[in-house]
Amino acid sequence: MTKANRPGPTAILFGMTEREFATEVVSKLQQAGFTALFAGGCVRDELLGLTPADYDIATSAKPDEMQTLFRRTHSFGASFGVVEVLGPRDANGEWLKVQVATFRSDGTYTDGRRPDSVVFSSPEEDAARRDFTINGLFRDPISGTVYDYVGGEKDLRNKVLRAIGNPEERFTEDKLRILRAVRMAARFELAVDPATLAAAKAMAPQIRAVSAERIAEELRKILTHRHRARGIKLLREFGLMAEVIPEAEQDTSVEFDSVTKVSFPLAFAALLKGVRPESAEAICRRLRMSNDETERIVWLTANRKAFHDAEHQAKSKLYPLLTHPGAFDLIELTALDDHFVDADWCSQVRRLTPLETLNPPPLLTGDDLKAMGMKPGPSFKKLLDDIRRLQLDGEVSDRAGAEEKIRELVRKSQQG
Ligand code: ATP
Ligand code: MG
Repeated sequence: MTKANRPGPTAILFGMTEREFATEVVSKLQQAGFTALFAGGCVRDELLGLTPADYDIATSAKPDEMQTLFRRTHSFGASFGVVEVLGPRDANGEWLKVQVATFRSDGTYTDGRRPDSVVFSSPEEDAARRDFTINGLFRDPISGTVYDYVGGEKDLRNKVLRAIGNPEERFTEDKLRILRAVRMAARFELAVDPATLAAAKAMAPQIRAVSAERIAEELRKILTHRHRARGIKLLREFGLMAEVIPEAEQDTSVEFDSVTKVSFPLAFAALLKGVRPESAEAICRRLRMSNDETERIVWLTANRKAFHDAEHQAKSKLYPLLTHPGAFDLIELTALDDHFVDADWCSQVRRLTPLETLNPPPLLTGDDLKAMGMKPGPSFKKLLDDIRRLQLDGEVSDRAGAEEKIRELVRKSQQG
């Protein structure tokens, strides 16, 4: 690093960026005589002009040597040669950290997901164990030199996703790579190399060897990315949709690319067009999604058509949906289903109507009914629901009116 671009003491103490910190770690390793390079995704992202989500460092230093060199480390994968080096806080007060891993080659795979053992090795071998050529690059952040042992730069330039080595073997070792292929190809708009594509298609049924949680995690990344339409297309093309969500295999889904950030439940519900709420719930459970995610997805699916023709619907039906925490997702889903006018109308109502109109305090409670001399029982809830409906629809507006209505309803039920 030249003197000019080395972060000064001020930068070190206040608001050092993750990249600056990662560069410091590389520099310290190099000064101690080790090879140390940025590795994998961060190199790819920077070559594409994107800001990496995180920086990974690969080095010739062994975990114990890293622990000697850095004051604060956290070793959670030392047997794999991975050490987390902890740094100062960034401008947002978050602790900076970077993963540093010893160059390694992976041993045999017997579980279809993780190597049984690893052997510390050279950068060439470390590149060869990675999944795709675009993910197999190293770069010295100080000199800027790119180390490419797998043809990754050319593939990145030509926008090609290609497995490193024999694609069938690579997908056999770790089946999650088949889903990663979809994610990478969609995210970076890559064409899939024919041999890689053929192997992925042939191996797609084996995705079942991967845990539901890991599959869901990849789906989450694919579907929340703005290139989700291409992701969904590739999931079908690879034959992965048929394995993972056969309910969405038919091309009825709303495929949408969007510049705005989209929640996973919204994207997932959009995918599940035509799927009944009970099936949606079964799919979420099968993929071991969280209760929160599952609930929201089922709610969106169940209310998918609730805003159609919204303007002519009873307020008592609309308002509870509009004050639900998923309201904006439901509005968005309504638009995705081509009901733009309804979505727009709902959005206006949600934004312009005061909350005390959309969700006013109830006029009567169970205690009030008791005070009126009624005995608690199943009819209680029904009466309260009836009053709530009349309140939201503007047919009763005060306590006296509500009490009067209750007496009327009770009289009617006794007559009938
Ligand atoms: P992201 O931006 O999503 O983090 P990434 O490429 O950095 O993308 P990571 O999961 O963070 O993905 O992995 C970092 C690097 O480790 C990858 O770039 C790749 O070189 C390697 N890698 C990750 N997962 C696998 C895998 N299943 N098989 C082989 N190599 C992998
Ligand atoms: Mg990463």
